[in-house]
Amino acid sequence: MNAADAARAEGGLERLGLVPTPDPRQADVLLLITCVVRQSAEDKVIGHLSSLKNLKSVRPDALFMVMGCLVDDQAALHQRFPHVDAFLRPSDTDAVLQLVRERFGLTGPTQHRAVHEPPVTALVPISEGCDHHCTYCIVTLRRGPQRSRPLPDILAEVQDWVGRGARQVTLLGQNVDAYGQDWDGAAPDLADVLRAVHGIEGLWRIRFLTSHPSDMSQRVIQAVADLEKVCPHFELPVQAGDNGILKRMGRKYTVESYRDLLACIRRQVPVCSVATDVIVGFPGETNRQFEATCDLLQLVRFDTVHIAKYSPRPGTAAARLEDDVPAGEKERRRALLEKLQTQIAGEINAALLDQSVEVLTEGRRRNRWMGRTVTNKLVFFEDANDRLRQLASVRITWAGPWSLVGEPVHATSE
Ligand code: SAH
Repeated sequence: MNAADAARAEGGLERLGLVPTPDPRQADVLLLITCVVRQSAEDKVIGHLSSLKNLKSVRPDALFMVMGCLVDDQAALHQRFPHVDAFLRPSDTDAVLQLVRERFGLTGPTQHRAVHEPPVTALVPISEGCDHHCTYCIVTLRRGPQRSRPLPDILAEVQDWVGRGARQVTLLGQNVDAYGQDWDGAAPDLADVLRAVHGIEGLWRIRFLTSHPSDMSQRVIQAVADLEKVCPHFELPVQAGDNGILKRMGRKYTVESYRDLLACIRRQVPVCSVATDVIVGFPGETNRQFEATCDLLQLVRFDTVHIAKYSPRPGTAAARLEDDVPAGEKERRRALLEKLQTQIAGEINAALLDQSVEVLTEGRRRNRWMGRTVTNKLVFFEDANDRLRQLASVRITWAGPWSLVGEPVHATSE
């Protein structure tokens, strides 16, 4: 979501005639987009903010803005960081552009100089905020209740990106599966959004994230099965493998119902990948409860697991519970899960050896092309031809837990 905000702000600033600089001391406009999901992210933001203080004293004329989940009490932030000109709520890119227009006396859009290569993948928010109140989560407090975006707006934005060269779209929301639930009466749901976006010509692939296990419907799973452009990949955070912990996290599902949901997904979409998020060391998590998470990973065999150590966030319900799992123990649990998952992912990916996969090439890394399969596996391959923005058929010659390497078979680009 922050990357989507950054891309949108960047596009808007370029349309106003601004150009990017790699050197912050040269910048007339500085926009810091912030994440505070864990204390470590917040510490990083505060570090950046403090280091930019010197910059502001050298360049008092520069417009310095901070947007994102850090922004809570604006008055308090202004007092604490007087060198910042404006604090803006998450995704408030309109306000960013308005402030820039005012400060520099810019009126309408100028001749748009295309400074950036258009992205292969467009990130398009379909909803903002979330109506769940998971007890560990600060995002719902900072981004507010769910507001779904009207379908015509979504379609227009995807269409616009595709016109500029995007081939893939990732539809974003804190909880994409609840799309439309904040409207009265018969409202479109995520399946309707997928079907509508699917009709856009020139678009090859559609992804969506993040899903909430209690909101993912049969209709959405069926849409993934039916629509060939929709990638068979699910981002379905489970968070813990113990029902007592899930309950205290406010997650509204059980390990059993989560596994039933996965069974449905795998029945309807037999070739698919599933990524999940896990928090270790939630308040009161016993070793036995942690082991239940290990068991779940072993049973389910996720393709990817994002593991985080629990971090108490101010204002959340869980912050009132004692953060009683010691830091060393959280790290032990994290490392154990990571080791387990590395082994599982290595085994899953090894099954792709010698297979041909279709890769959408998104860029270059260390002299190789880099792209992803429909199941979101990262693939590197060498090819002297320009393969950017193309679909390539690649035979896998090496498979590791985090990425694959292969060689092009033949051009399948459209
Ligand atoms: N909508 C997602 C939340 C997105 S935040 C959901 O259903 O939970 C991305 C991930 O960060 C979460 O899935 C969770 O694993 C992790 N996370 C969120 N709050 C956290 C906290 N207080 N401590 C540690 N990890 C946290």
